[in-house]
Amino acid sequence: MSAPEPISSVIIVGGGTAGWMAAAALARLVRTGVKVTLVESDAIATIGVGEATIPPIRNFNGLLGLDENDFLSKTQGSIKLGIDFIGWTREGHRYTHPFGEFGLDIEGVKFHQFWRKLYAAGQASWIEDYNLCATAQKLGRFTPPVPDPNSVLSRLNYAYHFDASLYAAYLRAYAEAGGVVRIEGKVDAVNLRGEDGHVEAITLEGDRRIEGELFVDCTGFRALLIEGALGTGFESWRHWLQCDRAVAVPTASTSRAITPFTQATAHRAGWQWRIPLQHRVGNGHVYCSDDISDDEATATLIANVDGVPLRDPLLLHFEAGRRKLAWNRNVVALGLASGFVEPLESTSIHMIQTGVSKLLALFPDRGFSPVERDEYNRQSQLQMEQVRDFVILHYHANERREGELWRRVREMPVPEALARKIALFRNRGRFFRHDDELFAESSWVAVLLGQNIMPSGWDPLADAVDPALVRQRLDRIREVYRRAAEAMPRLEDWIARNCPAQ
Ligand code: FAD
Repeated sequence: MSAPEPISSVIIVGGGTAGWMAAAALARLVRTGVKVTLVESDAIATIGVGEATIPPIRNFNGLLGLDENDFLSKTQGSIKLGIDFIGWTREGHRYTHPFGEFGLDIEGVKFHQFWRKLYAAGQASWIEDYNLCATAQKLGRFTPPVPDPNSVLSRLNYAYHFDASLYAAYLRAYAEAGGVVRIEGKVDAVNLRGEDGHVEAITLEGDRRIEGELFVDCTGFRALLIEGALGTGFESWRHWLQCDRAVAVPTASTSRAITPFTQATAHRAGWQWRIPLQHRVGNGHVYCSDDISDDEATATLIANVDGVPLRDPLLLHFEAGRRKLAWNRNVVALGLASGFVEPLESTSIHMIQTGVSKLLALFPDRGFSPVERDEYNRQSQLQMEQVRDFVILHYHANERREGELWRRVREMPVPEALARKIALFRNRGRFFRHDDELFAESSWVAVLLGQNIMPSGWDPLADAVDPALVRQRLDRIREVYRRAAEAMPRLEDWIARNCPAQ
């Protein structure tokens, strides 16, 4: 039997964040002789939201070799140290999900176990005081982390806020310089091959036919290939993640200060994001259409933004869930075409990143085999479900009085894996990270405690360490973090010095 022909052409359909991230990463294949083409339509707008990220985006940019300051200045970008949750636990409450870790473990026992013990005795303040990102975030300050583990600054971690359309343009320039060919045109038809149902070509308006071997569907919620042509199927998670609409509007910044965090404020029928960039602030109200009308949701958004709206509000419809197969036949779906776990923890761009990395790691260079495809699908499903559960936690563990949505999500049964995590933490503050789960223990601890799931006790091993030593350590960590944060420049000054918008 002769070996299958190597794959020599990849067609990416769609030029939003997903399309251009894929093109930039797959440009590496061009050097191996694979032709990479991106087809996008100027007549169909990109979604235009998706401006908050999580720290692994730095690895993606780093792998491409992007210069951070240049990237930030060309995307009007800023720094994100975490998310500030207002009113999620209950009205008037506030907590932070910071990116860095809490304190330092002692004798192999997790820091938060010691914190729990001291907090119960009234000898520790709230856990955020023992996190450098949270401390800097509250002061509006930032400096990049240093690699030296002996430096307190090694405890920092950060991500970006950026203008999504500028990021796509930035990656486009990178990808085209790397040999990716862009074709402008609206896809009119997707042509399937008789014998195996693979996509063999797409036809553009005006009858231009583009053939390929591997197709990457980045057409956003339209999912033209993976769903429109292949009918892959969608698993809805709306019974858990009930918000299904968003209204978004950018505003002009009213002050020079740029806050280093995304703000997520709970409202009666959903929540509102605030994402500060250099030139403007991105705002959006995510809501459940069963509980509030579009007009009312828009009015709530406008009443709660600072600054003047820069354009008319944009209304978006979505459904939380996942494509049943992210890779079906010879089509791999990335971005919104592959599914969506609502925007609360800014994970969508990250899942594009991991989708492209997985595709490169499992690239079907010798033709399509179920082995690679199944592994890709298994990993994609697991990651999306883990992210889903983390997001559900924010909704479910609420004590809010106002809003029918909040009562429903509080009372609903949650996925079994999440129920187990909550029960284990509630008991002795224990947490285990499974299968390369995206969110680390510190993230779960931040949100579990933030949503008032307080462990009823602590790991007994915490009692084995001298209490005086533990208290001294905690006091010192808090003090060192406070001083380190106070010594950092204000974020807007750091930006002005390093990466002002061009
Ligand atoms: P799109 O941006 O919709 O791009 C689709 C592309 O396909 C366009 O180029 C379009 O021209 C092309 N296309 C479509 N049909 C055709 C056709 N027939 N012919 C040719 N081309 C076609 N993610 C985060 O990580 N952080 C966030 O803070 C965040 N916030 C969000 C808030 C909301 C309310 C929503 C809904 C999503 C948010 N996301 C966020 C997700 C994020 O917006 C997306 O993951 C990201 O923008 C990628 O979108 P995309 O490229 O898949 O789709």
